Amino acid sequence: MSDLKFGSAFEYAPAPESTPVKLKKQYELFIDGEFRAPSGGRYFGSVNPATGKRHARIAKAEPADVDAAIQSARNAYSKVWSKMASSERGKYLFRIARIIQEKARELAILESMDGGKPIKESRDVDVPLVAAHFFYYAGWADKLDYAFPGRSPKPVGVAGQVIPWNFPLLMAAWKIAPALACGNTVVLKPAETTSVTVMHLAEIFQEAGLPDGVVNIVTGAGDTGEYLVGHDGIDKVAFTGSTSVGKKIAETVAGTGKKLTLELGGKAANIVFDDAPIEQAVEGVINGIYFNQGHVCCAGSRLLVQESIHDDFVARLERRIETLRVGDPLDKNTDIGAINSKEQLGRITSLIGSGIDEGATLHESSCPLPDSGYWCRPSFFTNVSPSHRIAREEIFGPVLSVLTFRTPAEAVSRANDTCYGLSAGIWTDKGSKIFQIADQIQAGVIWANTFNKFDPTSPFGGYLESGFGREGGMHGLMPYVQI
Ligand code: NAD
Repeated sequence: MSDLKFGSAFEYAPAPESTPVKLKKQYELFIDGEFRAPSGGRYFGSVNPATGKRHARIAKAEPADVDAAIQSARNAYSKVWSKMASSERGKYLFRIARIIQEKARELAILESMDGGKPIKESRDVDVPLVAAHFFYYAGWADKLDYAFPGRSPKPVGVAGQVIPWNFPLLMAAWKIAPALACGNTVVLKPAETTSVTVMHLAEIFQEAGLPDGVVNIVTGAGDTGEYLVGHDGIDKVAFTGSTSVGKKIAETVAGTGKKLTLELGGKAANIVFDDAPIEQAVEGVINGIYFNQGHVCCAGSRLLVQESIHDDFVARLERRIETLRVGDPLDKNTDIGAINSKEQLGRITSLIGSGIDEGATLHESSCPLPDSGYWCRPSFFTNVSPSHRIAREEIFGPVLSVLTFRTPAEAVSRANDTCYGLSAGIWTDKGSKIFQIADQIQAGVIWANTFNKFDPTSPFGGYLESGFGREGGMHGLMPYVQI
C-alpha cells in the first residue's frame, strides 16, 4: 500500500444537500390528535450540533400534559383502536409507511440538521429503515394469530415509550410500529436534544388519518420520562437509553405489573482473526465504530485483533481514518458528522483523556474540524489493557479501543469480559469458526464478516446490562401482546 494521504491528495468539492427544508420555529406537544401548547407555557431550545446554535423551541410537557396524553391514549385504546378490525389497523400502518417514503428526503435532512448525523446515513439508512419498520409491522397486524398460533394474542393497553437521541426517527419506529400493529396505543417521549423529527412524524400520523389519541408525543427531559414511566395509567414501558437510567426504570416498574423492555448500552467486541479478508475487515471495523459518530449502542467499540496481524491491521486503520471526512452533516461527502451535544462531546473528551492518562496510545486523524459546533476526530487507542476505562465503559463516540488475542478461546473470554451483551462481530474466512465463536459469545446480535446491518425482520436486543426483551422481527411483537 502506498504512503499517499488520500484525504489531502484528493479534495472533494463541497456537495451540500440542496433541497430547501426549514424547521419550524416552535414545536408543540402532540396530544389527542392535535398540536397543543404545553400547560405550563415553557419551552426549551433544540440546538443544531453542527453550529452549536439553537434552531427551534420545543414544548416542555408538564405532568398535567402527560396525564392528558395518557388519558387520550386510554380513550383511543378502549373506544377505537383495540376494537378496530386488525386488517384496518394494518391499513393505517401501511399508509404511514408510504407517507414516510414520500417525505423521505425532507425527513432525512431534518434528522441530520437536528441530530448531526451525515446526510448519507439519514438518507440511506435511518429513513428507509423507518419506513421498512412500519411496512413490516403493518403486515403483521392481521396475522397475529399466526405469530402466536392457538394463543389468542390480545393487546396490552397503553404503552409509555422513552427513546434516546442517536436514532430519533428509527427508535420511534421501533417502538410505535409493533405497539400499534398489536392494537395498543402509545405515549412516546423523544430525547430532549432530538425532538424535531418525531414531531414531523406526528404530522404524518395526522396526514394518514390515524384516529386521535392512538399516538401521543410529549417532549421534555428526564423528569418528563420519569413521570411517564411511573404513571399508573400505562400498562407497558419500553425504554431505550443508558444502562443507568434503565436500572432506575426497572426499579420504578418492579412490582407494578407493567410489562417492561429495556434496550440499553453496549461495549461490543469486533473480533478479527488472522484468516479474515483484511481489507474487508478494516472497512467493517471502520463502519462498526465511526458510523453515526460512534453514537450507536451496538458500535464495535472494542477491536479484538489476532496478535499475528496486529501491526499490519493497525497500520491500515491508521491510513483509513485519515481518509474519513468530518464536517457538515448536510454535505453528501461527509463520513462523520457532528457530535450530538456539548455534553456528549464532554463525555467523549473526558474518556479520551482517561485513555491517555492510563497509558494507552492515541492514534487520531489529522483532519481539520469546523470552527463552531461539536466535533470529534476519529481515533483509536492501542496498548489498551482490558482494565482501562476505554476498554470497559461505553464511549458513545468515534473512538475505538484495540486489544489483542492469541487463540480463539482468548478471543471469546476477552469478548465476554464486559458487563454488557448487546452485539459482537466476527471476521474470519472459516464458516465453522463463525459458528463455534458465535455460540460462546454472550450478545444479542452477532454479525459475521459484516457489522451494523439492521433489518426490521430481525430481532434486536441484549443480555446482561444491555437490557432485556427484543425489538424487531416477530420477537418484537411479544412485548405488545398478552397471550
Ligand atoms: P439516557 O438514558 O440519558 O436518555 C434516554 C432517554 O431517557 C431520553 O429521552 C431521556 O430524556 C430519558 N430519561 C432520562 N432520565 C430518565 C428517567 N429517570 N426516567 C425516564 N426517562 C429518562 O440515554 P441517552 O444518552 O439519550 O442515549 C444514549 C444511551 O442509549 C447509550 O447508553 C446507548 O447505548 C443507549 N442506546 C441503546 C440502544 C439499544 O437498542 N440497546 C439504542 C440506542 C441507544
